[in-house]
Amino acid sequence: MIDKHSEIVILGAGIGGLTTAIALHQKGFKNISIYERREKATTIGAGLVLWSNATKTLHKLELLTEIEKVGGQIEQMQRWTKNEEFLGVIKVNNINTSIGFKSYSISRKDLQNILLEKVNELNLAVYYNHNVINITYRDNTTSISFENDISVNAQVVIGADGRMNSIARQYVNGDNTPIYQNFVNWIGIVESDKPIFSKNNVLDFWGCGERFGIVPINENKGYWAGGKSLPLNSPIKNKNNKTELKKLFDSWSPKIKEIIELTEDENIKYIEVFDHNPSPNWFKNNVCLLGDSAHASLPTSGQGACQAIEDAWHFASILEKSETIEKAFNNFQRSRFEKTTTITMAGRDLAKSLFNEDEMYCEQRNENAKNTDYEIASQNIAKLWSKNLPK
Ligand SMILES: Cc1cc2nc3c(=O)[nH]c(=O)nc-3n(C[C@H](O)[C@H](O)[C@H](O)COP(=O)(O)OP(=O)(O)OC[C@H]3O[C@@H](n4cnc5c(N)ncnc54)[C@H](O)[C@@H]3O)c2cc1C
Repeated sequence: MIDKHSEIVILGAGIGGLTTAIALHQKGFKNISIYERREKATTIGAGLVLWSNATKTLHKLELLTEIEKVGGQIEQMQRWTKNEEFLGVIKVNNINTSIGFKSYSISRKDLQNILLEKVNELNLAVYYNHNVINITYRDNTTSISFENDISVNAQVVIGADGRMNSIARQYVNGDNTPIYQNFVNWIGIVESDKPIFSKNNVLDFWGCGERFGIVPINENKGYWAGGKSLPLNSPIKNKNNKTELKKLFDSWSPKIKEIIELTEDENIKYIEVFDHNPSPNWFKNNVCLLGDSAHASLPTSGQGACQAIEDAWHFASILEKSETIEKAFNNFQRSRFEKTTTITMAGRDLAKSLFNEDEMYCEQRNENAKNTDYEIASQNIAKLWSKNLPK
């Protein structure tokens, strides 16, 4: 069995890195350190939904109680055209019942804080201002060099350094270039003294080459994403976000205009959206990828963070039971590749459809959405998301 005192280094204090540290501690590993390039552990993104596959996993990691205190229970995902023609509803409750756990929307800041508080409570070390620049391997030990001239050695290295420029993915794969998927997202978090949401339903408005999604967290708070098909480095990037959004979504549902208006300028971010082609190479020597560095999926999959959380649980459980590091990494990749690949490809399919600019295509797509059997759709989602969860 792998020595519980092995030196384990985690690169990246995002959702995947922090959750993995907690999962490894739960399995009795003693020497876990996390290295993060930023001054503090914040990541892009306004909020996210922890669907029931993630909450089941978080329950196993003893983190769910804290999530329930600040998260909003999501019961429905409604689809509308930009002119508020109803397209259908995915009953999230059906998915929740099938998996046995509720789904919660949460701000990224709250999720990050919950993970960090747990990491601190467990006395796990997080080293900020440590930007990994190089990874080398010799005599069964991996050496990590940071920009600040510090280097550390480890027997197990977990590359949880995200999708955009993962040094671990570069080391394992030889290439880490993410793929631009031809659309941008403006994301925002909105908070108001007066109630702005009556129900915790996700509202998804579809245009043609454009999309606006709103996710309530509680009656006064929520997050949103406005997406548009655009090339990289569009001139719109340097313009005022709020002004552009107001122009773009002017003729859409009044709810969208209200939400944009109520969002503070500094809480709106412009993001060019990338993912990765699925790659079956998740490890090399003592370095194993996890989360976005292994399988970044588009926001349209709704599952990036959820899969990073599932990874954390599987990685720790497999490492605990394995005789060698190589066998552990191999089993980890085998147990996770199919599910994460299916999710990545589903995210791409939905993005291609939502950001298609052909009017005839969009009309037909909306017609198909109206004729969808949403009972079957939610069963199919539940079938995929429930694959290979902790017992
Ligand atoms: C616009 C947008 C919206 C999204 N919405 C959702 C959603 O609703 N639901 C959902 O489940 N997922 C969503 N996702 C995906 C989700 O954010 C990611 O899948 C998730 O954060 C992956 O976690 P991670 O730990 O692998 O990567 P990250 O959370 O990106 O963390 C990587 C960490 O590594 C650090 N790092 C990077 N390079 C280095 C280095 N060289 N040295 C040291 N540290 C380094 C980074 O600073 C960061 O802290 C969204 C993503 C985007 C872009």
